[in-house]
Amino acid sequence: FGRLKDGLTKTRDNIVNGIDSVFNGFSAIDEDFYEELEEILIMGDIGVNATNAIIEKLRGQVKENHIKQPSECKEILIQSIKEQMKVGETAYDFEQEQSVILVIGVNGVGKTTSVGKLAGILKDQGRKVLLAAADTFRAAAGEQLTEWANRAGVDIIGGSEGSDPASVIFDAVNAAKARHVDVLLCDTAGRLHNKKNLMEELKKINRIIDKEFPGVHRENLVVLDGTTGQNALQQARDFGEVADLTGIILTKMDGTAKGGIAVAIQSELNIPVKYIGVGETLEDLQKFDSDQFVNALFD
Ligand code: GDP
Repeated sequence: FGRLKDGLTKTRDNIVNGIDSVFNGFSAIDEDFYEELEEILIMGDIGVNATNAIIEKLRGQVKENHIKQPSECKEILIQSIKEQMKVGETAYDFEQEQSVILVIGVNGVGKTTSVGKLAGILKDQGRKVLLAAADTFRAAAGEQLTEWANRAGVDIIGGSEGSDPASVIFDAVNAAKARHVDVLLCDTAGRLHNKKNLMEELKKINRIIDKEFPGVHRENLVVLDGTTGQNALQQARDFGEVADLTGIILTKMDGTAKGGIAVAIQSELNIPVKYIGVGETLEDLQKFDSDQFVNALFD
């Protein structure tokens, strides 16, 4: 929790200080108060829709409980943000079942790093992990993932640069079956600028996994760079058009004041953030819990 709090320092400074100044600066709960609060939430990248919903909830509670002092409604605001972040599915299934995880995302968001960190985490939990280096498009991706595999002490199946990602997946899936692997983690190429190709590639990969490993638990995790704020939200929407997303890994939350994007993502996309990255070491990929996240911001 301490690491999470430290990692979110910039976001805390951005959102929480602003909110505190509203709570301390206003002596009455009036329209100006709500407007100021709304502005701070939107500036904090929480998103217009989520902000409106949060403020509406706050208004309702203030009225219902006859609250007069701004200081009295801080707890209600925190609770409203937590409620706004609740999504239907938050189980971390792949940590219990035999699973194939496709990790997708555009270049530079922290995809390969997150796959490496996740491999280390799952290995530490006693799971047998295999990596598939199916980002055969980006020159250094395979080597970089091999380094992470060595660091984490897990096996890796790779293809040479420019080879067919689907054939890497074919080899990896069959190796996973033969070696009784618990979790097969697949790095993939993120060529979102060529949606049609990407869609075809993912379709082909999905067909191979369905055929070669029927019944295995599947996840499609999209990696988003938290520092890009609202652009991250758009990327998730774009990837959602080409793949059935089951979760999000939100990276680089340590370097950003735009951490409120986690609220916007969960409430607007209704896809659970499963992990967040708050630094570059293995320990800095943390399982995401929305209540804990909001507590880390406001505690
Ligand atoms: P990919 O192209 O999506 O595979 O991106 P990489 O995994 O190569 O990561 C790009 C850069 O972001 C690297 O320098 C990583 O060390 C860095 N990075 C990834 N995740 C995090 C994070 O959570 N926090 C910070 N500060 N840096 C990160």
